[in-house]
Amino acid sequence: MLIVMKSGASQNEIDRVIEVIEILGFRGHAMPGEGRTAIGITGNKGAIDPAHFENLPGVADAIRVTKPYKLISKDLRPERSVVKVGNATIGGDELAIIAGPCAVENPKQVLAVAESVAASGSKFFRGGAFKPRTSPYAFQGMGEDGLKILAEARDQFGLNIVTEAMDEQGVDLVVKYGDCIQIGARNMQNFSLLKYAGQTRKPVLLKRGLSATLDEFLLAAEYIMSEGNYDVILCERGIRTFADHARNTMDLSIVPAVHRMTHLPIIVDPSHGTGHNYLVNPLARAGVAVGADGLLIEVHPCPEEALCDGAQALTPNQYLELVTQVNRLHALMVEEDARTPVVTEIAV
Ligand code: PEP
Ligand code: MN
Repeated sequence: MLIVMKSGASQNEIDRVIEVIEILGFRGHAMPGEGRTAIGITGNKGAIDPAHFENLPGVADAIRVTKPYKLISKDLRPERSVVKVGNATIGGDELAIIAGPCAVENPKQVLAVAESVAASGSKFFRGGAFKPRTSPYAFQGMGEDGLKILAEARDQFGLNIVTEAMDEQGVDLVVKYGDCIQIGARNMQNFSLLKYAGQTRKPVLLKRGLSATLDEFLLAAEYIMSEGNYDVILCERGIRTFADHARNTMDLSIVPAVHRMTHLPIIVDPSHGTGHNYLVNPLARAGVAVGADGLLIEVHPCPEEALCDGAQALTPNQYLELVTQVNRLHALMVEEDARTPVVTEIAV
């Protein structure tokens, strides 16, 4: 059930609807929009009688929801969501670029990349302190010490920190040191982790699972939001296919599909999406061209010495070149969108 409030509904009227939802034993999720506030209801097993709500002051409509999605849906919030991450945002008019090394290795490496990321004008820095590695013998990340180095990069360069958590303890630590909790592809359906991150009030960057369908991806976001954390950013990072020229196959069609179905922002990650340095720049541009709200790019001062994902890392110079190109492309697209459509008539 979705309760749509009248455009001038007061906070008291909204609060009363939520109170009635709670009296019925469910949970209400108010989503303020540009024109009106809508309230989603979760926790109900079956249909709810609209009669509970339709006569409450300020209510415009009580609509039955037949889709499996409640909170990610455009029915709840027709406008695109802009998610605040630290002192910046993802999902607005600006292209959000999150860049940094795959893994935090040492202060020198992190601060060198952070300097380039700040110089490029990007506002978000990434780096993993907890690494989900295929082999238990591979470098697993620096843990809390790594998070302290990321916090130092934020203090020195004013960048907002996006970093992965693999378990509940990791979420607590990322909340303490970082600005955005990354949930990686391998954990996209770790439902207890999703719920735990949903109980925090830090934004969550949710990466698409290795073989997740659009439905599974969106329902994973729904898990986080159903706990009351509405600040979710989706990330396409490539899926497993038969193609073996790249580490993964970037499914760029998911960007417009996500925008069609949800109000959440989606960024693309051509680093994990391709696994190869030479593919990162073209696929980053392609991601911008299909309307992604941002990019996630791995950068290393010396990729051949990287402890993790060196083959896909850009050098700082390659990264700076990419930022110039994607910003130009994005500006061109914004300019095009702002133009009045040209109607071409063919004389017959
Ligand atoms: C990462 O961002 O470093 C990472 C491990 O990504 P993914 O979960 O997409 O593999
Ligand atoms: Mn990586």
